[in-house]
Amino acid sequence: MALKGKVALVTGSTSGIGLGIARALAADGAHIMLNGFGDAGEIETLRAGLEKEFSVKVLYDGADLSKPDQVAAIVKKTQDELGSLDVLVNNAGIQFVAPVEEFPEAKWDAILAINLSAVFYGMKAAIPGMKAKKWGRIINIASAHGLVASPQKAAYVAAKHGLVGLTKVAGIELANAGVTCNAICPGWVLTPLVQKQIDARAASEGLSVDKVREDLLSEKQPMLQFSTPEEMGALAVFLCSDGAKTITGTAISIDGGWTAG
Ligand code: NAD
Repeated sequence: MALKGKVALVTGSTSGIGLGIARALAADGAHIMLNGFGDAGEIETLRAGLEKEFSVKVLYDGADLSKPDQVAAIVKKTQDELGSLDVLVNNAGIQFVAPVEEFPEAKWDAILAINLSAVFYGMKAAIPGMKAKKWGRIINIASAHGLVASPQKAAYVAAKHGLVGLTKVAGIELANAGVTCNAICPGWVLTPLVQKQIDARAASEGLSVDKVREDLLSEKQPMLQFSTPEEMGALAVFLCSDGAKTITGTAISIDGGWTAG
């Protein structure tokens, strides 16, 4: 319970990796601000369930992170209503696939806004409070695509490479402020974001969903299994721990060997 009494904001935590990280931080004692889209009733069930299971305070705010003012507002709301913001997990992200010459401009703008610019706005708003307390953890969920490229993912790869760069800058700037900033770079994790890509490819190539899942892994991930949101949560908890206090400005792969080759 190293995070007992600390407060974490996990963006995009109504689903997938963000939810896995929010659960792990709550299990370690942190109060949580949830964020993300979804059915209001389901989100309330999730919020109340986490609160009950882990005996921590859990709030939800539906800020749309493509809007800079809403990013700043959720940081302030976390500080006002939960008393602080000690751990910022920038996780919300979207994907779209198309070749560069066909890539819709609106999709490029949305991916850059949510996957990269929102992280800048969130860090900008959260860092002063962390510096004042001389303790903070910023965890940016990048991707194997923050380190290497794949076709059809121009905006995503550009945003995630940018996110790794932003992480390095903040790591250096905050090196003696008691605040660390690191990126987690997952390979394939079976979440709704990836399931959508699997379903689209199964439909366009006339293959079964199971076959496309196998293909995704064998094309990229030497360890032929998906990583899990729980594993992402365990890594985030470690990055918040005292044992990780001199890890900063780095990009940590958790990708079954994807970027080793
Ligand atoms: P997901 O689709 O399951 O979850 C995304 C979350 O972000 C949801 O809660 C969604 O509501 C939220 N979100 C989307 N747009 C938002 C917006 N404008 N404002 C606020 N919230 C918004 O996806 P996931 O796979 O869990 O992805 C989480 C992060 O992990 C993303 O940044 C993604 O790029 C990254 N990632 C995922 C994988 C993978 O294999 N799943 C691999 C590498 C990196």
